[in-house]
Amino acid sequence: MGWSTDITHFSGVLDPSSNAPTPAKNIARFFGSIVQAATAWLPGDLLESAIHCRRRPKRKACLGRIRLALVEHDENGQPIEDVRILWECPVCEDYGVIRNWKGSDWDLSDIERDDGFWDSETLNVHLSDEEYLAVREALTDGRRLLALVIVAKAGATGPVVELTSSELGLLVKGVAEALKRAPRARRKPLRAVIGKLTQHLPADGSMH
Ligand SMILES: [Zn+2]
Repeated sequence: MGWSTDITHFSGVLDPSSNAPTPAKNIARFFGSIVQAATAWLPGDLLESAIHCRRRPKRKACLGRIRLALVEHDENGQPIEDVRILWECPVCEDYGVIRNWKGSDWDLSDIERDDGFWDSETLNVHLSDEEYLAVREALTDGRRLLALVIVAKAGATGPVVELTSSELGLLVKGVAEALKRAPRARRKPLRAVIGKLTQHLPADGSMH
């Protein structure tokens, strides 16, 4: 039996003032990231995301990455009232459904991608897991930019962030801002992300 989660049960768990225990925070982060990715992605379209499975069978981290989709229609193509998010780990086969995401702390469905994103060639930025997690953490308060990163795909060598050139410009600026506020230990991976993003900028260095 899979997980059935009402995401609103985790509201406030990740607030700085929250004294929820660490396991509760970790679970909130996991389900929250699934809601962010599903709501920032195309409804009905499976996203093979870079989000890590949280399970530790035999005390070793499962290496699976979560597949997820926001499901608006039933198998007959009829709209369903209770629009839900389905997710699964292809490695350990953990899976679940998340409800009540609309309007929750993690709902990114109001954020729109750049016009060219869905139908144009995108730039693919390959990150290490450390860089991917650092940039996600650093952008927690920037929903527009987080929406670009949280839908990173599971590539053969790690997370792949797909961006239009104008989104890339926005993200470079946003990560550079976040770097100024980041604790010292987090700065190195963020600098590496900026370096990788910058490699994809036009040769004249202009940003849109
Ligand atoms: Zn797993």
